[in-house]
Amino acid sequence: MALRTIRSIGVKGKTVLVRVDFNVPLRDGKVASDKRIRAAIPTIRKLIEKGAKQLILVSHLGRPKGKRDESYSLAPVAKKLQSLLKEKVFFVPDCMEVIIPDPSDFKIVLLENLRFYPEEKDDDAAFAKQLASYADVYVNDAFGTSHRKHASVHAVTRYLPSAAGLLLESELKNLDLSKTKRPLVVIMGGAKVSDKIGVIKNVVKKADTVLIGGAMMFTFYRAMGYETGKSLVEEDKLDLAKKLLSGSKKKIMLPVDMVAASSTNATARMKTLPVDKHPKNMMGLDIGPETVEIYTSVLKQAKTIIWNGPMGLFEQKPFDKGTNAIAKMLAASPAKTIVGGGDSVAAVEKLKLSKKMDHISTGGGASLELLEGKTLPAVKALLR
Ligand code: AMP
Repeated sequence: MALRTIRSIGVKGKTVLVRVDFNVPLRDGKVASDKRIRAAIPTIRKLIEKGAKQLILVSHLGRPKGKRDESYSLAPVAKKLQSLLKEKVFFVPDCMEVIIPDPSDFKIVLLENLRFYPEEKDDDAAFAKQLASYADVYVNDAFGTSHRKHASVHAVTRYLPSAAGLLLESELKNLDLSKTKRPLVVIMGGAKVSDKIGVIKNVVKKADTVLIGGAMMFTFYRAMGYETGKSLVEEDKLDLAKKLLSGSKKKIMLPVDMVAASSTNATARMKTLPVDKHPKNMMGLDIGPETVEIYTSVLKQAKTIIWNGPMGLFEQKPFDKGTNAIAKMLAASPAKTIVGGGDSVAAVEKLKLSKKMDHISTGGGASLELLEGKTLPAVKALLR
């Protein structure tokens, strides 16, 4: 089934309800990072260019627990959006009791935080119907929320002709494993196997090689009977790790060496060791240089690389070396490079390498669900 997008629908002279993801960090009442606001701009511009009469933008911000909480107001976002677009933005301080200005005065309107109402998360039909009543057409560009069955991305599609925005379209295209150029190498890191079991199961089927890093390597090594000292291990996932390894047809590669320390303190004793020499009283906090070398040679063969999760405790020096090496390798790679949401994105941004990647996902949970091979509920509603 094909996805309906704003390229194929007519919006001329119409009012469009656009669900964006303006869930941005705020500091001292100001937008601390405008990345997500910028990500919505191509869709906003495209709809205006296609002759839309007026855009009613809706979003959530943070977790206000279903009631009004000014610290989660979208008012600072309206200001930021106005300065980025260089166009007037009218802010409505509610999303249910709404007075919409005349389109000749304001083409762009932003409504207050949807999550000031519990009905948003409940996928409530009446709430969705009320949102739909403001417009003629609905566009979803909130990739980061599309794995949720929430009213503004799910129920609302029952009441208006609906389509995907450009950001949602591009995220879906880039994270579709069945359409990638081969060889496809997936790098999985982070702390927990449990969060990513579904992804590993699916990518093992679709990718040519899966490179494992981060603390999750120790759950695999413990499952294989290795000493793992004080490293993070998910004891209740050992059977699963064993199953994944035995069913992976040798596609899963594990690190051969690691940087271990007696604690996470900056002054702690540190050692670089082979993984089968794990000291009992130390914890593994990064992949080692030999692993970086082996992984680099695998990555050099790839035509597509997908990266999700850091290779070590990257927030703390010197345990950021493995993660940084992978980030730099991807930045220099001629392969198509895709960075999944969450901590690997933070690592790439810290090194100012974002522009060197082909695609950086704006959604952590949503990108993981796509890599698991699932169809996101809000996307299902846009298929014809
Ligand atoms: P996740 O949310 O599962 O992607 O995990 C990301 C977190 O895992 C980051 O905060 C990393 O610092 C942490 N992490 C990665 N490798 C290790 C490790 N070897 N030991 C402890 N924490 C780690």
